[in-house]
Amino acid sequence: MVVYWNKDQETMDREALAGFQLERLQWTLQQAGKSPHYKKIFADRKIEPGEIIHLEDIRQLPFTTKEDLRAQFPYGLLSVDLKEVVRLHSSSGTTGQATVVFHNQKDIANWADLVSRCMYMTGVRQDDVFQNLTGYGLFTGGLGFHYGGERLGALTIPSGTGNTKRQILLMQQFGTTVIHLSPSYAMRLMQVMGELGVDPSVDLRLRIAFLGAEPHSEEIRQRVERYFGVEAYNSYGLSEMNGPGVAFECPEKRGMHIWEDAFLLEIVDPGTLEPVETGQEGELVLTTLKREAMPIIRYRTSDLARVLPGPCPCGRTHSRLARIMGRTDDMLIIKGVNIFPIQVEQTLMEIPEVGQNYLIILERAAGMD
Ligand code: ADP
Ligand code: ZN
Repeated sequence: MVVYWNKDQETMDREALAGFQLERLQWTLQQAGKSPHYKKIFADRKIEPGEIIHLEDIRQLPFTTKEDLRAQFPYGLLSVDLKEVVRLHSSSGTTGQATVVFHNQKDIANWADLVSRCMYMTGVRQDDVFQNLTGYGLFTGGLGFHYGGERLGALTIPSGTGNTKRQILLMQQFGTTVIHLSPSYAMRLMQVMGELGVDPSVDLRLRIAFLGAEPHSEEIRQRVERYFGVEAYNSYGLSEMNGPGVAFECPEKRGMHIWEDAFLLEIVDPGTLEPVETGQEGELVLTTLKREAMPIIRYRTSDLARVLPGPCPCGRTHSRLARIMGRTDDMLIIKGVNIFPIQVEQTLMEIPEVGQNYLIILERAAGMD
């Protein structure tokens, strides 16, 4: 029997889900209209949030892009008083102006609940020991999973990234059963365990791993599962939509359920920006449905996604996304870090001897860029 974290939300029939989404969308538009950015957009385009009466009407609204977030930095998309805001996460800004996302207390609670839902779905329970091997700080992976683990009631170890020997020691000392890490760090961990002569099947108690923050193949999943003796699950998120907790694999491991009670999903042709046929690949566009401090409407993620057909045997009704392997822009994700070619160029061009042209060669070693 499948046990759910939020049964009502996770198994809501599609019609009820659409009704719920419409209600949340209407609320979101009202809320977004309080921010300087959307207030101006609604006024310029004579958009009355009250006139959005079908989910499809969202197509009348403009997309929001990374450039909009940059142009509105820092407070242009804030929809509540600053005194209500309790947290921000920000991108590094190495490719230009940084972007920032704000949360109030309710947003943080909702986000934590979504992450708990994901973890619970894969079988994590209160008696698990969860080691979070991702960066704490402005990056969302650390705090996002941390609050999710605590809300679920698991013992949550904020071990962060790096210091691999110590990570392994923590796993041994506390009997870690669940880990969250980037696929590239999983590869590094394997290497160091090999060097130290640690055998996960004898020396560790791991049973579940969450792999997120960067594209990785089915082969990588299987390698992680075999080496650590775990079930590994794909975790997808982006800071504009909180971070982790947007889409996550269930035990069926056939696509990631995208939580449609919290995010409205569209998949558009990146050229024409028109919706693609159901099941076709296109750019993932997301609208927050619950966020109060900073709602975002029709955010172009630049991620290429595809909805898998049919219902999932796990009973959850939320759509499933196929593994995300590509982007519409030229961003590379190396060891979980977002890199744009322009950054390579800036570094190269600081060297006076270097000429005008350069070539970036991206190699794929052991299934990883
Ligand atoms: P983070 O690096 O914290 O996940 P960012 O907002 O910096 O968050 O980057 C989000 C981007 O990372 C996504 O738009 C996507 O391109 C990529 N990403 C995150 N998780 C996955 C995943 N499971 N598979 C493929 N790409 C992913
Ligand atoms: Zn499922």
